[in-house]
Amino acid sequence: MSAVPAIPLVDVAAQYRAIGPQIAAAIEDVLKKGEAILGPAVSHFEDEFAAYLGIAHAVGVGSGLDALRLSLMALDIGSGHEVIIPANTYIATALAVSSVGAKPVLVDCHSETAAIDASQIEAAITPRTKAVIPVHLYGRPMDQRELLCIAQRRSLAVIEDAAQAHGASFNGRFCGTFGDLGCFSFYPSKNLGAYGDGGMVVTSHGHLAERIRILRNYGQQAKNVHTVQGLNSRLDTVQAAVLRVKLRHLDRWNQQRAVHAARYRELLSSSCVGVDQSPPGTTHVYHLFVVRCSNRDRLQAHLKHHGIETGIHYPCPIHLQPAYASLALSRGTFPVAERLSSEILSLPMYPELTEDQVQRVARTVQAFFQS
Ligand SMILES: *Cc1c(COP(=O)(O)O)cnc(C)c1O
Repeated sequence: MSAVPAIPLVDVAAQYRAIGPQIAAAIEDVLKKGEAILGPAVSHFEDEFAAYLGIAHAVGVGSGLDALRLSLMALDIGSGHEVIIPANTYIATALAVSSVGAKPVLVDCHSETAAIDASQIEAAITPRTKAVIPVHLYGRPMDQRELLCIAQRRSLAVIEDAAQAHGASFNGRFCGTFGDLGCFSFYPSKNLGAYGDGGMVVTSHGHLAERIRILRNYGQQAKNVHTVQGLNSRLDTVQAAVLRVKLRHLDRWNQQRAVHAARYRELLSSSCVGVDQSPPGTTHVYHLFVVRCSNRDRLQAHLKHHGIETGIHYPCPIHLQPAYASLALSRGTFPVAERLSSEILSLPMYPELTEDQVQRVARTVQAFFQS
């Protein structure tokens, strides 16, 4: 191990050092008022998040997984139904589908964008298909035009998994606002992260927002009147107060991420790694900065040896996870997702990274290919 200080993959504490007093004041305010379940902090944050995205409704829930799960429940999707998802997403996308009793139907991803390959969706549709969940992986806005056309033609609901894409946009419109419902996670390391779990569903459909409000709170329409079998999955009030503060910084943080990404691209352009490009007309928010390389494991070990922490998002596609052995999909079923999982590497990325750190990471990557 070298003597230089380590560079972490993410540094949540660096953010706290910058805005700690604002966070502490917001938390203290909730504690003083004694309003610890739902209440004004949650409803204000819902209003502010909806206004930020330019959409009518936002409903705070317990996690990103529950945002997806409650969206499916609100659409009455369950046993006997199928939902199309990308083969290379985080496991939560699949778990949401199976947790409501429906079957996740995987579709391979596009090798350049890592998003679901829209040209393969049609072939996966059956009479049981109810919805499709596109994922804006890495914070990279997916071009959903073809997918939205197919969904409309085949009467499928679209639930966007925007858990990595707070503030990302495509042709001036925010990710999460294209489909029937958009789902966000506030897991601490996300671009907009709480100090615990949290999530949000956004929608322009008032009736769906209302159903999710009821479903997240024990299916309770009015005090002790339970109209549906709901969950306990409310956005925590203390987390909502924290997120209200952090939402005001989101655009600046996303811009800092974009600056680091541009530097990485510049400094790595002559190396042997493939870097994620932001297509024209899109605002990529770089939840992750992902490079591709055929000897990924060796590159990762080299970076680790030089004190640079990296990640793999994700090393094992859904169909090869033991939890989904019941899908009976063998290796080779989704060649693009499988190949991607063996080549991708996430480099350190967070707003507070310094220019020196970005240069050191890039230099260390370059040195690997020169040796
Ligand atoms: C983080 C994440 C989720 C789940 O969010 P949680 O808040 O951790 O439940 C879902 N989908 C994707 C793509 C994610 O990155």
